[in-house]
Amino acid sequence: MKVGILALQGDFEAHARVLERLGVEWAYVKRPNELAAVDALIIPGGETTTMLKFLESNGFLEALRRLPVEGKPLFGTCAGAILLAKEVTKPPQASLGLVDVTIERNAYGRQVSSAVRRGRSTLTGAPLEMVFIRAPIIRRVGAEARVVAECDALPVAVEQGLCLLATFHPELTSDTALHEHFLQLARARPAAPAGRR
Ligand code: GLN
Repeated sequence: MKVGILALQGDFEAHARVLERLGVEWAYVKRPNELAAVDALIIPGGETTTMLKFLESNGFLEALRRLPVEGKPLFGTCAGAILLAKEVTKPPQASLGLVDVTIERNAYGRQVSSAVRRGRSTLTGAPLEMVFIRAPIIRRVGAEARVVAECDALPVAVEQGLCLLATFHPELTSDTALHEHFLQLARARPAAPAGRR
């Protein structure tokens, strides 16, 4: 199994370090045609406005949207979570619409309000350390989506089908619980039909 990391902008190197630690094969993805070579994709934190400049050309957004249909899981952290959401507010912007949540950008305030907090997840009994950097807040979770982690009574990680999103940066802490959960999704994925891989 090879996990792709979208490497247009943002903290993609931090995700690569986590996958190295977990002993997983990975590759950076900078062009839509490189998606065929990976079995799952991580969308890192960064600036969604910058990422969208690249993604809104040469069919990149459409290619990403097809990944779960092809049985390939997606994991978005912070900016990646915003890109996976169905609805983005403040301001509204284009997204993949793969997870039925409404997400509000920069909702904790400006850079100074970035913080390390502790929250609870359904993944392990232990509290999870969560790094928030100009993070969005999930304001609505649709019926098909499932909350995986909470912090300060707000949902901060949500999954739907093959898509997982977190408004914080698990790639910046030593706790690999969320990445491991994503890898389980990737390993459990149905085999692609013959000739499609
Ligand atoms: N504020 C960024 C955005 O809206 C996300 C921040 C992050 O990924 N750390 O795109």
